[in-house]
Amino acid sequence: MAVQKQRHSQQKTLGIIGGMSWESTESYYRLINEGIKDKLGGLHSADLLIHSVDFGPINELQEQGAWEELGVLMANSAKRLQAADAQGLMIASNTMHKLFNAVQDVTDLPLIHIADATIQAIKAQGLTKIALLGTQFTMTEDFYKQRLLDAGLQVAIPESDARTEVHRIIKNELCVGVFKDSSRAYYIKVIEQLADEGCEGVILGCTEIGLLIKQADSPIPVFDTTAIHAAAAVRFLLG
Ligand code: GLU
Repeated sequence: MAVQKQRHSQQKTLGIIGGMSWESTESYYRLINEGIKDKLGGLHSADLLIHSVDFGPINELQEQGAWEELGVLMANSAKRLQAADAQGLMIASNTMHKLFNAVQDVTDLPLIHIADATIQAIKAQGLTKIALLGTQFTMTEDFYKQRLLDAGLQVAIPESDARTEVHRIIKNELCVGVFKDSSRAYYIKVIEQLADEGCEGVILGCTEIGLLIKQADSPIPVFDTTAIHAAAAVRFLLG
């Protein structure tokens, strides 16, 4: 049965592929609603469709390197959101942007890329050399980093042991809602090291890192991809 969009809303409807992890999708939900409330006031809230997936099997498929299968899962999620009348889509995870093209191939809806929104925010501050923290996939593979390089940024990542630990903390702690002072201290040490190497800012390139690290923890500007992506969502909804 076709679903009619509520005609009285002054917003578009945005579909979010979320649940990766739900800890960060909760942040997206809050931040987007706060953004709409800020702009429209009163009792206004965001017009969203969220498909929150089961992250357990998705994480296993990541570990197995089964990206083709993951691409099918993301594409199916996008199709469900489009069928539910979404007018634009976003993937609420940096890592899963590895499958951005797989999603783009099955929909004609606009897709809000998390790295593009982040690049805009970095350029607005006039920075050029930037550190990137995230999962191993995000820090080491081209799907994300290359987009930053193509935009004219210089990108630095932690050394190998630090990358392993940054990734471990994301998966074993942040994605299951565990926030330890020792892990915060570790991230701060890694950021300080990258700042010493000349990085002018740091991308919190995993949607859970902003739950652990705030601007006050960092000697250089932080670019929290969840907050930046959520702000782009608000612009889309009102555009
Ligand atoms: N949410 C995280 C990200 O932004 C990591 C979880 C995942 O592996 O998808 O990359």
